[in-house]
Amino acid sequence: MTTDSLNQDIANRRAGILAALAAASASAPELIAVSKSQPDAAIEAILAAGQRVFGENRVQEAQAHWESRREAYPDLVLHLIGPLQTNKAADAVRLFDVIQTLDREKLADALAAAMDKEERRPQLLIQVNTGEEPQKAGVIPSKVGDLLRYAREQAGLEVAGLMCIPPADEPAGPHFALLKKIARDYGLGLLSMGMSGDYELAARYGATHVRVGTALFGDRSAA
Ligand SMILES: *Cc1c(COP(=O)(O)O)cnc(C)c1O
Repeated sequence: MTTDSLNQDIANRRAGILAALAAASASAPELIAVSKSQPDAAIEAILAAGQRVFGENRVQEAQAHWESRREAYPDLVLHLIGPLQTNKAADAVRLFDVIQTLDREKLADALAAAMDKEERRPQLLIQVNTGEEPQKAGVIPSKVGDLLRYAREQAGLEVAGLMCIPPADEPAGPHFALLKKIARDYGLGLLSMGMSGDYELAARYGATHVRVGTALFGDRSAA
């Protein structure tokens, strides 16, 4: 594919998604472009289309994609959307503006120490395992209150909202509704939910952020 047609394809897909989000909700959620596994050409194409908010799963890959681009694009906003190990907390705090995957006390402690050391305070979301799937990261719904209390009172962190990844084989709506209810119960404002297959649905359920990869860039395996 030529650079021109790649740029045009990605710009068109982005415009379509932004229009669908605007139609789905009066307060359209922020579109986070999930740039994991994408080649440089795709990242350059979506930057050229005006996208500045990005999500990455892994700290190391995010550094490779974004550290050198920060200077050229000072208005970048980077979200960590994958699991974080405590020994990567300082690297994550240095690079990301939002960390969406706080899910345990030990990580709250590591993030608090890293924020003091780096003198940088990314926004934090708690990841909720709404489907209570054993293999999936995130705190189960009944434990959100405990983790929130620990993060605030023991670790001295501010928590801005919640994130979830619904089970792949279930309708997402009930999971979005549950995440929204938990956020309302605890007075949390940000809701990161919805991916390529269900971002419009998530917008209708009140998402403030949707995380979209494939629908923007095309298939990752084909990239
Ligand atoms: C990869 C990923 C996405 C994007 O998935 P698509 O289906 O490609 O849109 C969103 N959220 C998380 C946490 C991811 O890991």
